[in-house]
Parts: sequence; C-alpha cells; structure tokens
Amino acid sequence: MQIAIVGAGLAGLAAAYFLIEKGIGVTLFDEKGVGGGASGVCSGLLHPYPGLGARLSHLADEGIELAHQLIGVAQVETSLPLMLTEGILRQAVDAEQKQRLMSYADVEQIEGDLFLLQRGRTVFCLDYLQALAAFLQKRGAIFVRQKIENLEEMGSFDRILLAAGFGVKSFVQLPVKYLKGQLLCYKGAVPFAKSFISKGYIARTREGFEVGATYERNFTSEAPCLETAEKLLPFYPGELIGVKAAVRVCGRAHYLPIVEQLSERLFVFTGLGSRGLLYHGLFGRKVAEMIARSL
Ligand SMILES: Cc1cc2nc3c(=O)[nH]c(=O)nc-3n(C[C@H](O)[C@H](O)[C@H](O)COP(=O)(O)OP(=O)(O)OC[C@H]3O[C@@H](n4cnc5c(N)ncnc54)[C@H](O)[C@@H]3O)c2cc1C
Repeated sequence: MQIAIVGAGLAGLAAAYFLIEKGIGVTLFDEKGVGGGASGVCSGLLHPYPGLGARLSHLADEGIELAHQLIGVAQVETSLPLMLTEGILRQAVDAEQKQRLMSYADVEQIEGDLFLLQRGRTVFCLDYLQALAAFLQKRGAIFVRQKIENLEEMGSFDRILLAAGFGVKSFVQLPVKYLKGQLLCYKGAVPFAKSFISKGYIARTREGFEVGATYERNFTSEAPCLETAEKLLPFYPGELIGVKAAVRVCGRAHYLPIVEQLSERLFVFTGLGSRGLLYHGLFGRKVAEMIARSL
C-alpha cells in the first residue's frame, strides 16, 4: 500500500506519521520542500485557548496531547530544543475575555489583565517539521520535491491525500476562506520575557522575536509586503530583519479543520486556519484512520 500526500506541512506530515504507524507507506510531494507553505511561517504558538474568545475547544486537550506526541518524536532527531516550555503571556482584551481566562485552572493571573497560559508553548515550527520529516524518512517515508499539477499523474498510488494548504484550491472547491498572514521579524532583545498574546502577538524566535500577524482578506499576492505589514502591525523597537507571509486556509465550521473523503481514492485534510499546531496531530490521526479504513 502506498499513499501519495500532496503537501509537506503540518497537515501532510502529521497524516504521514499516523499512516506509517499503521504500517502504510507514504510518499510526500511538495513543490517547495518541507515547511514550504504556511507551516514554515507559523509563529509556533501552541495553547488551548485560541481566538479572541479565548474559549477552550472541546478538542483542545486531545489536540495538545497529540501535538506533544509528534513534537516528542521529532525532538529525538535533533539536539536543538524544538520548543520553549515557559508558558505564554496573555493580556485580556476585554472584560469578558478576562472573566473567561480567570475561570481556567491552568491559567495564572499575574496582575490585572495579564495572565500566564501555563500550557502555552512556543514551537520552532520549521525546525520541528524538518526533524519530524527526518523521523518519517527513517521509517520509510519518501519525500519528492515536485509540484503536482494534475491528480491523474498519481494513478499508481492506492490513495491520494490533499494536504496542500492554499494549494488545495487548484484541485477542489471547499467551504473555506483564505487569509493572508504577515509577520515582522526582529533580532535581539525580546520586549517581554515570554511569547505574548493580546490583540496581536509577539512570538519568541531563536534570533529574537516576531510580531504578528495580519489577517488580510482581499490580497492580490501571497508574497510578503513590508509596507502593508508595517501599516497593519504595531511597531516595536528593535532590529527589523525581515517580513514573512503565507496564506491560512480557514474552515468555516467552528474553526475546525476539514478532513473528508472526496472520492474512492481522494482525501483532503486542510483548513487548519490559525490553529495548525493545536489540531494537526488530532486531525492527522483522524484522516489516517479514514484512509486506513478505506483500504
Ligand atoms: C503568519 C502566520 C502565523 C501563524 N502562526 C501560527 C501559530 O502561532 N500557531 C499555530 O498553531 N498556527 C499558526 N499559523 C497557522 C499555521 O501555520 C497553519 O494552520 C498551518 O501551517 C497549515 O498547515 P498545512 O499543512 O495545512 O498547510 P501548509 O503549511 O501551507 O502546507 C501545504 C504545502 O503544500 C505544498 N503544495 C501546495 N500545492 C502543491 C502542489 N500542487 N504540489 C506540491 N506541493 C504543493 C506547499 O508548498 C506547502 O508546503 C500561522 C499562519 C500564518 C500565515
């Protein structure tokens, strides 16, 4: 059995992990290589209270557990720490959010509107993906750097999984929206001791920190645009070293990803939105189970 996966980002790699665990062979195709899409731009914030509502999703605990499982197997492949475990600071943006944050047992009120999400982690996402890919490769996964233009090319595979992020729109129409996200990258001292979320966020990186992210709807290009990013994001003193951009695919139903069987041989896993780290393991396992059942 050999499954073709189009896309080697968080979705494709998580699905590959769970397929291989079931003894099913995978070949991953990515036109830009591992982490070539939104996953390589991801700021790495992982915590169970996403969005402005700061609500605890009923799937968040399981999502976090599976994310940790995957980060744990990747960690074995590298001596670089793949995440910071110090928690994430969150400043409540209104009274309702403050009330909600105060009600969670694992959230500590530091002072006034400032809270510590104790389960918050800052993952160095591109390093994580590369380490996970190394792990998968050792277990037989084949990585091919190639743009898939036409699914007919993949006739020799038993099943095809589309995990192509923004690229999925070339193959199927789905009930999703596409939002461009841009980040400003700084070198040097971090304004806060930890990653920090308020209306926007500051995420720690190996070099310094990044300020993010924009939610641009009517974008005409996927490419980074410093002028727009500087206009939309708050200014922080520091050495600006770059701007990054990628497109998030957002599922419409309660911000949950899309995992579906589209035909006898074709499956899709996308719509991770801004919750890539939180849900990639959980829904990667779900799509792997769906594919395994269909064989
Ligand atoms: C600025 C920004 C900040 C973010 N910060 C966070 C964060 O802090 N925490 C968090 O959890 N999430 C965050 N996210 C969201 C997260 O990055 C995404 O949810 C996640 O990366 C989506 O993963 P994916 O595998 O579905 O898509 P992608 O990572 O986009 O992967 C799709 C892959 O498919 C490949 N591809 C596409 N078409 C083809 C084709 N035809 N042939 C071959 N290959 C193809 C692409 O090259 C790409 O590598 C952020 C997103 C952005 C944009």
